[in-house]
Amino acid sequence: MTQAIQEDDRPLKPALKRGWRQRCPNCGVGPMMKGFLKVRDECPVCKEALHHHRADDGPAYLTILVVGHLMAPLIVWFFVEFRPEPMVMISVFTVGCVALSLFLLPRFKGAIVAIQWSKYMHGFRKA
Ligand SMILES: [Zn+2]
Repeated sequence: MTQAIQEDDRPLKPALKRGWRQRCPNCGVGPMMKGFLKVRDECPVCKEALHHHRADDGPAYLTILVVGHLMAPLIVWFFVEFRPEPMVMISVFTVGCVALSLFLLPRFKGAIVAIQWSKYMHGFRKA
């Protein structure tokens, strides 16, 4: 008799949490990144291969999506409400957009690598 529901040996939710924290999606201890955005070839703790990821433009796309949808209405509201000097407006929102982008980009990359690992995408498939 075949088993109707196969056991999920790589559950998505814990993998996503680990990826968001830029940790290995397998053990959650080893750091996923080498530097700011470079994904390690393998986890230094559990030796899980991570070089199979194909995050490509996904993290940048998600970062732009979130930052744009947060900042665009905020810029309009801030301008209508306070009518600041243009240089104040530019300074505040440039720093805000860059800071939020730098915060989100590695976290989205970790999450995307974790999704790919969890779903056996690309080279993460079972041998
Ligand atoms: Zn690991």
